Amino acid sequence: MSDFTKSRTGSCQCGAVQVQIQGKPLEMHLCHCVTCQKVSGSIFAALVTIKEEQLTITVKPGLDEESTLKVYKGAPGDSSGSVSRRTFCGICGSQILLRNDHLPSMAMVSLGILEPYPMTEDSTAGKEGREVDDGEGWAMKPTIEYWCVRKRQWVGETGAEVVFKTGPETEEDLAKLKNIFGLA
Ligand SMILES: [Zn+2]
Ligand SMILES: [Zn+2]
Repeated sequence: MSDFTKSRTGSCQCGAVQVQIQGKPLEMHLCHCVTCQKVSGSIFAALVTIKEEQLTITVKPGLDEESTLKVYKGAPGDSSGSVSRRTFCGICGSQILLRNDHLPSMAMVSLGILEPYPMTEDSTAGKEGREVDDGEGWAMKPTIEYWCVRKRQWVGETGAEVVFKTGPETEEDLAKLKNIFGLA
């Protein structure tokens, strides 16, 4: 996996904002918190964490960058006091990414804006349309789940390695995250 160099592209619903991620993300996580529910309009957010240097973000030629790439600064988080800044398309409203004070050199990109990975057409296992795992790390499963106290009961187990009832609170929680993010 260390020689993973492929990039993956993504865009907002209207196509005004384009992203490119170079190399494999550090992890993918789900967050069931109320903010992520509100922002996504769904019941959880799925985000990939990457280093800033892996990210290229561009606006369609001819469009004004400032009005196309909007940033919403959230209120300080419940227990951690961290502040998040959400970048979204000013035209269609798709959430592009999230940055958090606690992870200064990283960005969390919405998994759903990335172009779909090749899907299998093999329906023999009754799993038509699932992502194909090419061994390069993109057909990944969640590593972390946050805010499971807000998780809908019918959302099944994801097999995430680290599961938080809320956000990370203790030193031990933070140590687990630092380990995953390679900051330990
Ligand atoms: Zn858009
Ligand atoms: Zn959240």
